[in-house]
Amino acid sequence: MELSPNEAEGGTGTSQPSVPSFALRAYVTAVTAVGALAVLFVLGFSPWPDVMSDLMVGPVIFLAIAAIIGEAKPIQLVLGDSESRTLSTSSPFVLALIPVAGVGVAVLVQVLASLTDDVLQRRQVTKSLFNVAQYSVSVLAGGLVYTSLTSTPLLSAPTDSHDAALGPLLLAGITMVVVNWILVAIVVTLASREKFLWVLRTDAQFLIITHLVLLSVGAIAADVASDGVWVIALLAGPVIAAHLFAASGARHAHEASHDMLTGLGNRGSANHRLAQTLADARNRGADGPGLVLIDLDHFKDVNDTLGHPVGDIILREVGARIVKAAPEDASVHRLGGDEFAIIVEGDHSRSRAAAAALLEALEDPVKVDGLELLVRASIGIAVAPFHGSDSESLMKHADIALYHAKVERDRVSVYSPEFDVNTVERLQLLADLRSALGAGDLHVVYQPQVDLQSGRVVALEALVRWNHPRRGNVSPEEFIPVAENSGLIFTVTSFVLDSAISHVARWRDGGHDVRVAVNLSARHLSDLGLPHQVSEVLERHGVPPEALVLEVTETGIMADAVRADLVIKALRELGVAVAIDDYGTGNASLTYLRRLEIDELKVDRTFVSNINADNHDLIIVRSTIELALALGLRVVAEGVEDERTAQALATFGAVIGQGYHLGHPVPAEQIDALLTFAHHTARGD
Ligand code: C2E
Ligand code: MG
Ligand code: MG
Repeated sequence: MELSPNEAEGGTGTSQPSVPSFALRAYVTAVTAVGALAVLFVLGFSPWPDVMSDLMVGPVIFLAIAAIIGEAKPIQLVLGDSESRTLSTSSPFVLALIPVAGVGVAVLVQVLASLTDDVLQRRQVTKSLFNVAQYSVSVLAGGLVYTSLTSTPLLSAPTDSHDAALGPLLLAGITMVVVNWILVAIVVTLASREKFLWVLRTDAQFLIITHLVLLSVGAIAADVASDGVWVIALLAGPVIAAHLFAASGARHAHEASHDMLTGLGNRGSANHRLAQTLADARNRGADGPGLVLIDLDHFKDVNDTLGHPVGDIILREVGARIVKAAPEDASVHRLGGDEFAIIVEGDHSRSRAAAAALLEALEDPVKVDGLELLVRASIGIAVAPFHGSDSESLMKHADIALYHAKVERDRVSVYSPEFDVNTVERLQLLADLRSALGAGDLHVVYQPQVDLQSGRVVALEALVRWNHPRRGNVSPEEFIPVAENSGLIFTVTSFVLDSAISHVARWRDGGHDVRVAVNLSARHLSDLGLPHQVSEVLERHGVPPEALVLEVTETGIMADAVRADLVIKALRELGVAVAIDDYGTGNASLTYLRRLEIDELKVDRTFVSNINADNHDLIIVRSTIELALALGLRVVAEGVEDERTAQALATFGAVIGQGYHLGHPVPAEQIDALLTFAHHTARGD
């Protein structure tokens, strides 16, 4: 009947507040007091001389020792996937002592057994006293039932016949178990704030099955006691066998539910524990738990370069650090590879705090063979019931959050519904893009911009291209927004900028007076470090600032107007030109843009490509171009797809055209040829 609240080992995962509530303390004190009275009553009122004179010394000593051993060496029972319980086998022997030696001896032996166990386990005095009291009350209740059913006084010496009445004895045993069960359930309820009936139900199945077995052992023991100690000793066989089988079962279950390398629970045990903690929280009407997934960054590289033994050492060390850093009521599991799961009770804030503590715990390098290895990790969090109310969806969402943290380099990411399936694909794309940048799968093509009146190539727009190893060419329309949502756009732009400036340097060195245009995304307009970066690249390649045009969009400017203003000013102070791209698709007015002081306007192709078919578009394009030219801006018309459009645009003034009719975006080498050819044609070679 070992079910004291602190022993529900690996059990229900109830969180116990560190400061016991008033109700809990009052209850424990009351039970302890009643128990003490029960023991005093038994000691004081038992007819000891009669009891002693009638005692079957051998069987009683045997039963007493069996009870003490049964309490101190409980059976390890495995209940579910990973749940184990300890079950003491003292109860059948204590029960048998009621008819064999009287209630007084039964209570005394139970007190002795309980104290022995408490001393061996070094339990706190208050806990120990509570245990003793609760057992004594239970045994006394059992004794009361037995004696009243057999019509004997409660504290009498055993009857002469020495034959136990089996029916009453079984009922007495059931009473013992039930009283004990209720006393313990109340403590668990008070300590965990769970509902009483739920606590009772949790233990019901376990108690009924195991105690039916134990009570029958007790009944047999009582029945054969009068036949002498050797007969009763035969009962030791089945009990020891039960111990051995259960122990080996527990060992197998431990192996099946634990990870051999770190000794932590495995994925199965994590799922089981998660389901259990979820049910607990739901029952209490509380938020949580949070599932915190932690995955080491670049662990594969460590394994590949330093070998698996080193990898194993790191995993073991990381596992130990996680256990140490995790909250006390959390459970830590290794899901496999370099992924760990921590189940944290409570709401978002507790999971976040746990995540921060975990990352901090990994900050010190791991020492292996004189090497100091820095281990970095990413964390994904999903918290019930906000991000899922069953373990499966929590696992899935924490996994998505982890993935998000990995690709975004955020380190910790809490699941958000925005990370939907679509996002997973986008995240995959982002991860691929990151490796593409490393692997050189990106390159830049250039589209000529032609002065429509002279026919001369005056500039080239740099457009990025990605040749994906599996998906082929991925359009910038698809991957630029993804990169924009993460910090990766900065890497992409740096790459394009460097590439464009190095090419324009080459063309200018070849005697071609051309500009190069590079697209900026909205995020750059709030990056106050951009002007410095730009001037550094220009200097490095020896390119004058006026050879660079940076294209921004209206929406990009509007997103963070104050900072955009600062960044644009700083760029223009360098001498770099700023162009408004896709003009007409946003809703900024031309006067507003003019106030911002920009250099160039690129009229969007949706208007331009239509001027011959739609009179409205013609009017819009013409008046925009006229106004822009009047304001002193340079004008580029995008989407020039045929000769008629080119000619029409030329009549509006000094317009520069860009479009498939004038030249597709092509690799830099083809631009070399194009410029050289144009050069020679112009010179009449
Ligand atoms: P954009 O800056 O307006 O670039 C012009 C786009 O129009 C290019 O598409 C170009 O191939 C296409 N185009 C050129 N002439 C014609 C034409 O006559 N008809 C039609 N229908 N289309 C034409 P692309 O290369 O697919 O780029 C799409 C957009 O992706 C760009 O629009 C730009 O916003 C963005 N982008 C491209 N490269 C970069 C980059 O390096 N950085 C950033 N931040 N964005 C980029
Ligand atoms: Mg552009
Ligand atoms: Mg454009």
